[in-house]
Amino acid sequence: MTLADVINVFEAAYPPGRAESWDAVGLVCGDPGQAVRRVLFAVDPVPVVAEEALDWGADLIVVHHPLYLRGTTSVAATTYKGRLIHDLIRNDVALYTAHTNADVANPGVSDALARTVGLVGDLVPLQPFPDDPWRGLGRVGDLPRTMTLGAFAEQAAAGLPKTSWGLRVAGDPSRPVTRVAVSGGSGDSLLGTARAAGVDVFLTADLRHHPASEFVEAGGPALIDAAHWATEWPWLDSAASILSSSGVNVETRVSATVTDAWTKGY
Ligand SMILES: [Zn+2]
Repeated sequence: MTLADVINVFEAAYPPGRAESWDAVGLVCGDPGQAVRRVLFAVDPVPVVAEEALDWGADLIVVHHPLYLRGTTSVAATTYKGRLIHDLIRNDVALYTAHTNADVANPGVSDALARTVGLVGDLVPLQPFPDDPWRGLGRVGDLPRTMTLGAFAEQAAAGLPKTSWGLRVAGDPSRPVTRVAVSGGSGDSLLGTARAAGVDVFLTADLRHHPASEFVEAGGPALIDAAHWATEWPWLDSAASILSSSGVNVETRVSATVTDAWTKGY
């Protein structure tokens, strides 16, 4: 299989044209004609992930977050990013990013998150595209039964991969919850949408004090703030199975290395 064959599968599942205008998705380094046998999936393009790829003999790393998001004029090995690019190119390892185009896909990042925290049945986008009600940011779904916010938080924490701190809850832990919105990664911008959706709780990452406090005080749904990396990691399995089931003959592996920015809680 060539890198171009693999890219075709991803571009069908995660069309680059659906990425946000500020985003940088697609092939970061690699030759479309090069052979691909082993594909490593990870959330972050960081040195520990590159090391894992080299140790395993990967030909391609598929990541969620872009290595370079803003303009750059140098990939010299004088920065960790330049070093990473050099290490990959020297070893014939390609790097490919599926970011906001994977967030809005169906199935996408938030579908995987929704299943991981225990939502069942149909999932609908929290913020659907005007031209496609089945694609868009976030997902809304139901728990199999009503439970307390505290019990749901425990269930979600048990389903998500472990990070240095678990989940933070805003709202009365004894309040009942059934209808849930989730959004992988930073979900600040979807607070108003979650309120309008009439859900009981919104689970996302990177929530800040003022928006969260005002949201809950104003009678909005309860909030659960998880580690950014943990909310996106469940998608890696989904991306790997899209590739495996496409008929492209490659070996896939999901990196279990925790690359959340916060490495220890005290
Ligand atoms: Zn993210």
